[in-house]
Amino acid sequence: MVLESYKLWEQAEAEVGYKVFFKTCQLDMGPIEDKSLQALIASCKNNEIDVRVLNQDQVEEEFSGKFKLPENWVGLVTEQGGVIKPTKAVSMFQALGLKNGAILKDNAEVVQIKKGGEKGGVFVCTKGNETFWAEKCVITAGSWMNKLIKQVSGNKLELPIQPLETGVCYWKIKEGKESEFTFDANFPTFASYGLPYIYGTPSLEFPGLIKIAVHNGRPCDPDKRTFTIDALTSEALTQWIQNRFGDLVDSTRPVMTQSCLYSMTPDEDFVIDYLGGEFGEDVLVAGGFSGHGFKMAPIVGRILVDLICEGETKGGQFEHFKLTRFKKNPKGNMKEFSDQVNFVKNEVLVTEPTN
Ligand SMILES: Cc1cc2nc3c(=O)[nH]c(=O)nc-3n(C[C@H](O)[C@H](O)[C@H](O)COP(=O)(O)OP(=O)(O)OC[C@H]3O[C@@H](n4cnc5c(N)ncnc54)[C@H](O)[C@@H]3O)c2cc1C
Repeated sequence: MVLESYKLWEQAEAEVGYKVFFKTCQLDMGPIEDKSLQALIASCKNNEIDVRVLNQDQVEEEFSGKFKLPENWVGLVTEQGGVIKPTKAVSMFQALGLKNGAILKDNAEVVQIKKGGEKGGVFVCTKGNETFWAEKCVITAGSWMNKLIKQVSGNKLELPIQPLETGVCYWKIKEGKESEFTFDANFPTFASYGLPYIYGTPSLEFPGLIKIAVHNGRPCDPDKRTFTIDALTSEALTQWIQNRFGDLVDSTRPVMTQSCLYSMTPDEDFVIDYLGGEFGEDVLVAGGFSGHGFKMAPIVGRILVDLICEGETKGGQFEHFKLTRFKKNPKGNMKEFSDQVNFVKNEVLVTEPTN
């Protein structure tokens, strides 16, 4: 699915005339026995994606000594990494939408969605007292999905999407070494498996800084966020940075942090479906992107268009995202590997021994 999405990103870039997606290689690392890493190797093989499994020394050589792995760890290298500039990307899709006849409304909070009566379809009402009618309506309210669905259905419908308060951290690269952590130097996007699950990207949006963060979050009401990032700068993260990069990155503290929200489903798979209830197939929902939905935006869009226009989607991707999976099993789709995103209560994360 991700390969199909990459093609659609390229098509959109070609149409608009500028780039938003910067491809690079991806390094996944962790103990060889880690089930998620094993599942990743299997998935690459099933989808004919080239993957190289490197040992500690080979990883050091591949990335010119920047990543230092513990002895029992391996590094998986594929060509499927990349960074998307999010603001530019959203703006790109808005520009393409406008060109194709879309009408954009900013600052229009939807407060009610109701059946269209004899006319069919649905009415969508905003806080500013505007009302729109459409044959079909798609709700993509991110972390507010569940709140909005409960509100418009009078608490009759609910989605298994939990907002999590999370955030990202930027760390300072040692002076004189900044260029070694960029795309031009073949520095990869990366993920480190196990506890805590850590991810990072090459230095791009803030020169001299590298984004390294923990893939976790604190359950929250999206309208009552604390905006605190204490759990994100845990000892486990600083220790990981020190162990991987030594003195090439200042691990004492992040120099910049940003608070944001994940919208998590129990199986970390998306929800793309008809809402059902009184709305039947007139209202669709697309949410619960669980911290990995941005790169999938074009393919999710394609699935939604198929469902609206044709009533079905090509390629059988729809089944995986249906809400009915939670009726069969409250945990959703079965996985061969454990959860990657941890719910933080009182931040106690396992720290790895120093090398
Ligand atoms: C820290 C972090 C790191 C991530 N890293 C990656 C990554 O590496 N790769 C990746 O693919 N994805 C990543 N993601 C996930 C990606 O950002 C999300 O999957 C994606 O943004 C979700 O899009 P969305 O449209 O569902 O929600 P959002 O982008 O949150 O958009 C929802 C919109 O709905 C609006 N809204 C809410 N309620 C209403 C209402 N009542 N009326 C009108 N509008 C409303 C909100 O204001 C918001 O603008 C990351 C997310 C986070 C937080």
